[in-house]
Amino acid sequence: MAGMSAAHGGAPASAAGTTPRGRPAPARPVLAVALVFALVLLAALFGIWSRASDVLASFWPANALLLGALVRWPSTRVPSTWVAACAGFLVADLVTGSDLLLTVGLTAANLAGVVVGVALVRRWDPPTRRLEHPRAVLALIGVCGAAAAAATMIGMPVGVALLDLSPSSAAQTWFSAELATYLAVLPLVLTVPGPDARGAAADDTGPGRGAPRSGWGALVGPVLFLVPVLAIGIAVGGPGALAFSVPVLLWSALRGDVFVTSALILLTTEWNLMALGSGLLDVDMSSAGSTAKVSLQLGVALTSMGPLMVAAATRAREDLLRSIRLLADHDELTGVRNRRGFVGTAEAALIAAHQEGDPVALLMVDLDEFKAVNDRFGHDAGDALLRRVGAALARVTDVDDVVGRLGGEEFAVLVGGRRASDADALAQSVLEAVRGVEAGPAGPVTASIGVAVAVPEERVSLSVLMSEADRRLYRAKRAGRNRVQAAG
Ligand code: GH3
Ligand code: MG
Ligand code: MG
Repeated sequence: MAGMSAAHGGAPASAAGTTPRGRPAPARPVLAVALVFALVLLAALFGIWSRASDVLASFWPANALLLGALVRWPSTRVPSTWVAACAGFLVADLVTGSDLLLTVGLTAANLAGVVVGVALVRRWDPPTRRLEHPRAVLALIGVCGAAAAAATMIGMPVGVALLDLSPSSAAQTWFSAELATYLAVLPLVLTVPGPDARGAAADDTGPGRGAPRSGWGALVGPVLFLVPVLAIGIAVGGPGALAFSVPVLLWSALRGDVFVTSALILLTTEWNLMALGSGLLDVDMSSAGSTAKVSLQLGVALTSMGPLMVAAATRAREDLLRSIRLLADHDELTGVRNRRGFVGTAEAALIAAHQEGDPVALLMVDLDEFKAVNDRFGHDAGDALLRRVGAALARVTDVDDVVGRLGGEEFAVLVGGRRASDADALAQSVLEAVRGVEAGPAGPVTASIGVAVAVPEERVSLSVLMSEADRRLYRAKRAGRNRVQAAG
């Protein structure tokens, strides 16, 4: 039922500039309109082909793909893309020879579900939209249910009037097919790696958010696991085969990868429904009454929501752990590593350098006469200065260098590889960077720096390296401050 489309007539929209309520227009409106038209047209043609084919059971992904695209890329929610979507449904049906009245009725049903879905997800925040916590999956089920119900409200009378269906049969089949397809397709569209993934970190606020998203490559292993399991299900047969893939889905979910789990869910759900519809999976439904197909369809789709929730919960827990680790290892004031974070990372870097046969250099940086800054200008001015020094150190060092605030007004920098051989020059540029820090109310600041270098053969420990750099730092202090005590 949901697998029958039609569309309202209407020419593809011209370029949309601004939206009536002043929302930002899509960056490339003509492209967005063309993509939506192509998406709906191809998905609807696929649905019509799958309905006519003996091999595939009815699979109507156009509505869920359209809803997913409108949710995922809010800038596409402009009137011209709705017109393009209508045109896509219409063209697909008319080129395959559908009756015009039926076409219009079915398109109205398709669009009703999408409109309700879009209206409900408008207020979702980005982590919910990306299904990064388990409540998002509950919300998703609610939205899919409402969208399927809206489609059914229009689709049922159309089915009764034009397709000779009984009201209850039209309602059941319509609702279950719509819901099963929305649940299978929408999670993948919401989580698939795409052009907006880069901006994902920017719209988050909490620490540890914007964690790396997986790419297409992550799909290969899990799919290789899933395919034989689905094949075994067909070989064994019976209704239990529908659940054979659950351990694979849960294994994927426990890795916290919502995208990969969503892709496996789509594969599994559609495979199972196709196997049922085509008779490839032989389930005796003769004694189960007319609702058996509806029940199986809903059961297959809803079962996969369990693994999706596990994936979202794992993802949320990983985000939380990442932010806790970030807080535990970083200095709140300056944003560089704290002593714990510095020592942990520097020790690992030192061991790696030993193994690579690379030299390592450690710079111990202590601000000069800092107590006087606090005494004369207050603790807040001192704090602001420390923040600027932390930022200057981050600027002047490389991403691979380890920068930390060991305590008070004392910082350390560990560098490995080629740059370590030139540690004295690096120390000089660090000194310049501290001198160049914007003076602010507390006036300019200088630092004394001690440098220690470890050659790989000696395999010195971090604590030995730190004491050596410390000794040189105090030599720099005694020599009059505002200078580097070189390693050589
Ligand atoms: P020297 O040139 O010998 O290093 O002199 P100094 O005054 O920098 O060194 P000293 O160790 O005597 O004093 C360090 C001062 O750093 C003491 C304290 O007032 C200040 N300090 C330590 N931690 C903080 C902090 O988090 N915020 C602020 N504003 N000041 C801090
Ligand atoms: Mg000091
Ligand atoms: Mg000090």
